[in-house]
Amino acid sequence: MRTWSTPHVPVLPVAGPPVSLFDARSGALVETRPEGPARLYVCGITPYDATHIGHAATYLAFDLLNRAWRNAGHDVVYVQNVTDVDDPLLERATKVHVDWVELAERETQLFRDDMTALRVLPPEHYIGAVESIPLVITLIERLQEAGAVYSVDTDLYFSVTADEAFGEVSGLDRDQMLTLFAERGGDPERAGKKDPLDCVLWRGERPGEPAWDSPFGPGRPGWHIECSAIALEYLGMNFDVQGGGTDLVFPHHEMSAGEAQVAHPGSAYAKAYAHQGMVGYDGEKMSKSRGNLVFVSALRNSEVDPMAIRLTLLRQHYRPDWEWTDDKLWNAVDSLAAWRTALSLGAGADAAPVVDEVLAALADDLDAPRAVAAVEAWVEATNAGDDSDPDAGASIGNLIDAALGLAL
Ligand code: ZN
Repeated sequence: MRTWSTPHVPVLPVAGPPVSLFDARSGALVETRPEGPARLYVCGITPYDATHIGHAATYLAFDLLNRAWRNAGHDVVYVQNVTDVDDPLLERATKVHVDWVELAERETQLFRDDMTALRVLPPEHYIGAVESIPLVITLIERLQEAGAVYSVDTDLYFSVTADEAFGEVSGLDRDQMLTLFAERGGDPERAGKKDPLDCVLWRGERPGEPAWDSPFGPGRPGWHIECSAIALEYLGMNFDVQGGGTDLVFPHHEMSAGEAQVAHPGSAYAKAYAHQGMVGYDGEKMSKSRGNLVFVSALRNSEVDPMAIRLTLLRQHYRPDWEWTDDKLWNAVDSLAAWRTALSLGAGADAAPVVDEVLAALADDLDAPRAVAAVEAWVEATNAGDDSDPDAGASIGNLIDAALGLAL
């Protein structure tokens, strides 16, 4: 699938430190140690609606990781999927009387435009579920050889008990898993399953739904196997970071890891699992079912500077849940005006310590609020008349572009 355009990223005069990240599986801050290029997989959208601020926060968090790795001297291989066939997409297409392919293409393009406006670096491989069907089929066959697949009617299921490490990604107990599985697209109640937590690998054709030929009969891939197959193809096992929102920890990341680990025994799926907290609005988690979404494209259509959206997101650490408010956005608009004034002066307060502090903050579990605070201190000093560093404006301009993705 076509990705989006790469913004110019300045090269900084100093390298950043090694990047540490909070890993959900170990429950600890871990130093990433890429061998060769750093390998990152972030779960992509199901393109049935526009990008909301919660999505934007996720892709921006992993954009900071991508940039921190690059600034530390690593090449990065970044892979993202697009779930361009799945139940929510088909249901929405039926509801609004639009062809599902057309809906998926339209919303995927809107997502690309939003990511471009927010200066999110594109993935090197941007892969759709539909185009990954041959990869999914191969992986299911491998799981069949491992004895981890059984059928219920025309559907194929993955036996979660086949993965000895099942449960380690989320660290949840069985009751918690059953609750979340039911809430997040699973079917624990379905008759004929060996374990209520087993997940669909291949969904046999239903009347009125799209289907593709396979050795298992016509049908379409399950969601978790789509990501495992794409990650294995483009990154291989033991890649550096699996990223997504906290709502993907279970079942999605647990199942994707389990399927890959049963197909490739002896190695782990990802070295670390990192998750963006949920973004709320009007006191509730931002979600389609609650109808309290703030769309990036709607803000852009209201002439809001995408860099102000980006700064609003940067002022929140990626891990805790937080609430979007219009005040936060308008504060960011005002701040950017002060930032632009300071940058336009040319000379300013000493830039070198700010460069060190921003790179250190981002390498420390992507602490963007700390990085932003360092820049704001520089802006304040510069606007108050400190002109001790003749090239400070250019240095800070490059820094906030390369490390924070803000081009002013
Ligand atoms: Zn995924």
